[in-house]
Amino acid sequence: MSGDERPIVARPVPRNADGTLSVPTTDHGLLRLVCPSWCRDGHTAPAPVDKADICHRSEPVWALSVTEEYGEAGHLPVSFLQFPFRANNAVYLVLEDQPDGDLEFGPNGARKVAESLRAHANVIDGMAVELEQIRGAGR
Ligand SMILES: [Zn+2]
Repeated sequence: MSGDERPIVARPVPRNADGTLSVPTTDHGLLRLVCPSWCRDGHTAPAPVDKADICHRSEPVWALSVTEEYGEAGHLPVSFLQFPFRANNAVYLVLEDQPDGDLEFGPNGARKVAESLRAHANVIDGMAVELEQIRGAGR
């Protein structure tokens, strides 16, 4: 790193005695933020953010598989997300790290995703059987 470059360091957001966080914003100054119980976002940022871009986010939950190939491997992280100061301030379930970016679903969409993943698990089981046959037949 050259002498002119400074590392971007996330500053901890001060927690107030009443449990709220004081978040600096570009457009509304210092904002007192009340986080829902599921929010694990420290609301740290290298710079103030627009009020509308403040979001509550839960810890991601991963599907975990333990395989010979990779040991413990996490797949398909999901979390809750909310932008509390936007017109649409609903809480969404987020499928993270998808090819087209994060995907956000309401309760019905989340259930549809779960349904398709159960069906997809059957596809993977079937392909595992087919893989055994392919490998058993040689090359
Ligand atoms: Zn929060």
